[in-house]
Amino acid sequence: MAKVYNWQLGREMDYRFEQAAPDWQFAAIFNTNRCLACQTCTMACKSTWTFSEGQEDMWWNNVETKPYGGYPQHWDVKALDLIEQANPGGQSWGGSAGPEAPYGTYNGATIFDAARMAGTGQQAVGYIPTDEEWSAPNIHEDSPVAGAPLSEGAALPVHKTWFFYLQRICNHCSYPACLSACPRNAIYKREEDGIVLIDQSRCRGYRKCVEQCPYKKSMYRPDTRVSEKCIGCFPRVEGSDPLTNGLPMETRCMAVCPGQIRLQGLVPVEPDGSWKVDADNPLYYLVREEKMALPLYPQFGTQPNVFYVPPRWVPRPYLKQMFGPGVDDAIAAYERPSRRAQAVLQLFRVTQSIIFRFEVIEGPKVSEVNVNGRSLEVFDDTVIGYSRNGQEVVRVTVKEPFFERPVQFLNSI
Ligand code: SF4
Ligand code: SF4
Repeated sequence: MAKVYNWQLGREMDYRFEQAAPDWQFAAIFNTNRCLACQTCTMACKSTWTFSEGQEDMWWNNVETKPYGGYPQHWDVKALDLIEQANPGGQSWGGSAGPEAPYGTYNGATIFDAARMAGTGQQAVGYIPTDEEWSAPNIHEDSPVAGAPLSEGAALPVHKTWFFYLQRICNHCSYPACLSACPRNAIYKREEDGIVLIDQSRCRGYRKCVEQCPYKKSMYRPDTRVSEKCIGCFPRVEGSDPLTNGLPMETRCMAVCPGQIRLQGLVPVEPDGSWKVDADNPLYYLVREEKMALPLYPQFGTQPNVFYVPPRWVPRPYLKQMFGPGVDDAIAAYERPSRRAQAVLQLFRVTQSIIFRFEVIEGPKVSEVNVNGRSLEVFDDTVIGYSRNGQEVVRVTVKEPFFERPVQFLNSI
């Protein structure tokens, strides 16, 4: 076992391989507050990558209704339970937040620690879901926790009757459990973008990756007898798609989102796996500066690279076990966003090009609203997004422009 640094846990941890950080890391932010559960992302992914015979139950992107839904069913409860069995009552956070440990320090067991504690002889604790658990990707859609009649149960700050949508793809983790689990060393993490791939020619279908990925995002294909997973739409991220003229492009699931909840990009990485300071990168800015978006189950220890703006209306204890101790700060940052954050939030799903740098041009004050008893000023600032080569790829304002189309014919739209 090697010692690696996990910035999300604020400490070193054991991992099978020595630290080997990529130059850039694929990352994304999902704003759960805006998701429509339209499943456009799910179908865009399915129709691009997993439409063939043998892939019927394979959904690299899925959107599940929490707390009851899950694909495969109960994936997170089962993973949490395996850690708890190995280290009863030991999962807690402590210490204070700082630049090296933005959420404090995790004192509990990761999935890697739990395997050692339980003496499994494996790299991480895990299990293989049953066929039935994979068979209903959107089970319990829109089923709420019923704490009160809807008329009384849906008032902020926290609803008594609640559910929310959790969008899920492979996290292209910095310490992938799928990769460390593979006895064939068939899984690798790309140096240029941190995307985690399975070498199909090396895989023999032992399903160790399926067993040990706590997010259950590596999947077995019965007709080819090898495992497959989300490939981060790497031809698009590389910029080899003709549509953006050689410029890096967002994945299919990100680029189609009608709710404009998704922002995907690449962040530069330090040799110890933490993110290089780059406050003009929109992902770095929202995750590290504003702390508005949080990793999903950071306590698993894989250092996932998809981050979530938590839903405002959900009971905080539930959110804290899911996103860690940064939940209160993240919701506060989202409810009353700073002037710069208001501008950056406009960049979600407005261009297919990956934005590497943003710039804000200040505009006039257009509104002042009351949020939880405190005033919030809104400015019509302009935010400009630039691609990897410095080319401007998008320019939007905080206040949406209003266009009136002249009527030319009856029934003209
Ligand atoms: S396309 Fe966007 S809004 Fe629709 S389900 Fe997916 S993440 Fe949610
Ligand atoms: S989410 Fe799972 S499949 Fe994806 S990189 Fe992490 S451990 Fe591997």
